[in-house]
Amino acid sequence: MGAQSKPCSVKSTKPNEVVKKMPEKKPRYGLLVDYEYCTGCHTCEVACKQEFHRPTGMGGMKVMEMLQELPGGKLYPTFIPFPTELCVLCMHRVREGRKPSCVQHCMTSCLTFGLVEELAKRQAEKPRTVLWVPK
Ligand code: SF4
Ligand code: SF4
Repeated sequence: MGAQSKPCSVKSTKPNEVVKKMPEKKPRYGLLVDYEYCTGCHTCEVACKQEFHRPTGMGGMKVMEMLQELPGGKLYPTFIPFPTELCVLCMHRVREGRKPSCVQHCMTSCLTFGLVEELAKRQAEKPRTVLWVPK
């Protein structure tokens, strides 16, 4: 006579128990870039370099210029500040209750730091924006 299979002794876990055991979701932060009002002044780039004492040409923010050709031979410039791989969202400042350096120094308030979910809500109401989230 063959060996009889025994019922599995592993206790099954209900889905809601798994959810309860899961660690709370880590908050994710980002920068909302409103490029409609960016003047291309590069202050955000300088503010980032000074904050981290980085050499020329290396920084957490890069302001790009895009020239769009319009009918009639006109050129329309757009400035887009974009965080680089070096951006760490100035978390040392944020922990102290301060804004990231680039956000603090932008005269036209083009940059907003916050929780990704909240920034996404703002973005839904404001065209010509880019929501950036680090890895
Ligand atoms: S984001 Fe602000 S500080 Fe940066 S280039 Fe635009 S206007 Fe200047
Ligand atoms: S958030 Fe901080 S690290 Fe990131 S670009 Fe702005 S100043 Fe640089």
